[in-house]
Amino acid sequence: MPEYRQVSRARHGGAASFRVGDIEVGSDRVVMMCGPCAVESRQQLLDTADAVRDAGFPFLRGGAFKPRSSPYSFRGMLQEGLEILAEARERTGLLIITEVMSEADVDLIARYTDVLQIGSRSMHTFRLLEAIADAGKPMMLKRGFHATIKEWLLAAEYILGRGNERLILCERGIRSFDSEFTRNVLDLSAVQVAKRETHLPVFADPSHGTGKADLVIPMAKASVAAGADGLLIECHPDPLNALCDGDQSIPNAALEELARGVERMAQAMDRTMLGSEERVRELAAF
Ligand code: PEP
Ligand code: MN
Repeated sequence: MPEYRQVSRARHGGAASFRVGDIEVGSDRVVMMCGPCAVESRQQLLDTADAVRDAGFPFLRGGAFKPRSSPYSFRGMLQEGLEILAEARERTGLLIITEVMSEADVDLIARYTDVLQIGSRSMHTFRLLEAIADAGKPMMLKRGFHATIKEWLLAAEYILGRGNERLILCERGIRSFDSEFTRNVLDLSAVQVAKRETHLPVFADPSHGTGKADLVIPMAKASVAAGADGLLIECHPDPLNALCDGDQSIPNAALEELARGVERMAQAMDRTMLGSEERVRELAAF
């Protein structure tokens, strides 16, 4: 038995899926989570939520508490951002995923969101991992950008050690030496390794993984080919004027193209994209 025994696939005898609301994560259906890096305004988020829903995707992402390298960058709308996310949820029926950076915010954020996101920079903050697990909600653990795969799986072990098994792993790119053409290296081998080693659903984030909007759709498809159970993707109504991560945000207008690409790749992998049947029905009725 490997050191990461709670997450080990051998212990579970295969992959395990779980539900977030009415959505099954970790099944043969690829789950899309899209939205802006940060909630910037009510209008920006509601417009984006409509576009995400219209693309047939089940989850809206958006940071209200943002981990930024510089304290002088936009750090999020905090509780007001959570309230806007809740309004978008109410309006569209989309499920929400948003990041928790501090133990002090866990209870507050858990009241607003469906999935608690643990960011790359927090992966090694073990007391935070435990506090988030104790909230009892579904979670996503992003890989630290200089964490080995084993360190990532051991971080997941801290979470499952608290008795909360509803955890998604997300590969989001690791830091390397080329910062000219890509921001990070999206480690698609890690997606396969995490799937082989654990029973947990494994997602990929081609937005942070590449840092470049024009690479997002190709690498989203590549992630599905590598076995990803879902994708976390940044989009924005006006990426050029985004307050955070505009370079890697695809325009909301590109969500349809993303949906088509992922759907076709999922089918090539004998899977489907969640939402695709509904989309096909709607397109046929149109
Ligand atoms: C994000 O999803 O916006 C984010 C901050 O991601 P990461 O923690 O992977 O940098
Ligand atoms: Mn971001």
